[in-house]
Amino acid sequence: MSSRSCVALAALFLISPAFGQVGRTEITRWQYGKTGALSITLDDGSINQFRVAVPIMDSLGLPATFFIITGEVIGSRYHGTFVGRPPETIIEETATVPTNQDNLFERASAIGFLGLQGTLAFHTRAGEIYDEHHDLTQACQVIDDAYAKVRQGAFPPLDEHTASGGGRNRVTWDELSGLARRGYEIASHTVTHPRLAVLDDANLIYELEKSRQEILDHLGCKHTFSVECPYGTENQRAVAFALERYQLARNFMPDAFVDDLDRASQKDPAASRNEYVRWQRGPLTATPLSLMKSWVDTTASHQNIWLVLVFHGVDGIGWQPRTSADLKDYFGYIQSKEDHVWVATFQDVAKYMRERMHGDVRSYRHGNSISVVLRDDLKDSSYDLPLTLKTYVPANWPAAEIRQGGRMDRLEVTGDKMLGYITYQAVPNGETITLTPIGVK
Ligand SMILES: [Zn+2]
Repeated sequence: MSSRSCVALAALFLISPAFGQVGRTEITRWQYGKTGALSITLDDGSINQFRVAVPIMDSLGLPATFFIITGEVIGSRYHGTFVGRPPETIIEETATVPTNQDNLFERASAIGFLGLQGTLAFHTRAGEIYDEHHDLTQACQVIDDAYAKVRQGAFPPLDEHTASGGGRNRVTWDELSGLARRGYEIASHTVTHPRLAVLDDANLIYELEKSRQEILDHLGCKHTFSVECPYGTENQRAVAFALERYQLARNFMPDAFVDDLDRASQKDPAASRNEYVRWQRGPLTATPLSLMKSWVDTTASHQNIWLVLVFHGVDGIGWQPRTSADLKDYFGYIQSKEDHVWVATFQDVAKYMRERMHGDVRSYRHGNSISVVLRDDLKDSSYDLPLTLKTYVPANWPAAEIRQGGRMDRLEVTGDKMLGYITYQAVPNGETITLTPIGVK
């Protein structure tokens, strides 16, 4: 084929799809047509997250999600406890029946709540061995040692001061409710931050359900959407229990349209061909700011990445703390990329992805206007986040009026002369959306 006919063919292809496109509507991959998404999450509810990090995020207008240990919030009704047989019976049994796979979970659930100082550490240790090293024998050994010491009276009783949290600097439900009103997401990190993998069913359910109930009572339904199982566990039983009680877990996202790269993953998110990649990164005290900024750049320069940042301590309080100076610098950098990256709470990004992937958009031209019907098949009523639609409009439309129910917007047409489009917000399963031209000559 001559180069001349190549040019002619290319021109034809440029024009003809344009005619076919007019009236067509798509749901953009991310809110506001951005190229990636980013969620700032902070775990464990240590006090400087609220005293230091919140004012920085407030000043930049950045939302965030706090995974809080609900039993530690001042004013909570549900605290750490053992749900099951009388602990004395269990302690007595440990004298004659060694710990094995049949009784490990009950014993590991009870050991931290015997009213004694120092026993909780054995739960945590056994849980780590079982969950991360998959060593049942060693986990049973740790629990046997703990109960042997209990029987010998090696642990002093908890005093009231320690039992009530020791008067540590802790956040209150009033403060959390103020944050919730300002657009921050408060989410569950269980009642006591246990190793869920070694809890028996009753105690696993207690940790997940009572934490949810506490949040529901204080903050309402909106904040019962997300959970983070402590230590980012991927234990299948724990995750399954969590996903029966929450819409979304940070530690595991089962949706087929998401490649889920956890904090330890070395995979390159840019190599994923899936519709979305959830790319979790957990900056530690020593993580260089330049590396942290490069994660934001990678997100901005691809189409399918959701960067989920996991922070813990701030200014010396909490695990692997970052300084306020670092947070100011880093959050400022994130804000400077907002033209490309959609910064939103953890639940909002997940809702957007699911509503879009379960969504169906159809548009119809009649007369001089375009009607658009947007539906999704998600059953839970919490999926009410508006989606961004992009409708291609006739070449002679300079602007349009968009109506959905009582909401109305007037927006300019963007794109080129050959194929203009309008991007706008619409609620799924709401009224039909109507686009009518304004200023057509
Ligand atoms: Zn945690």
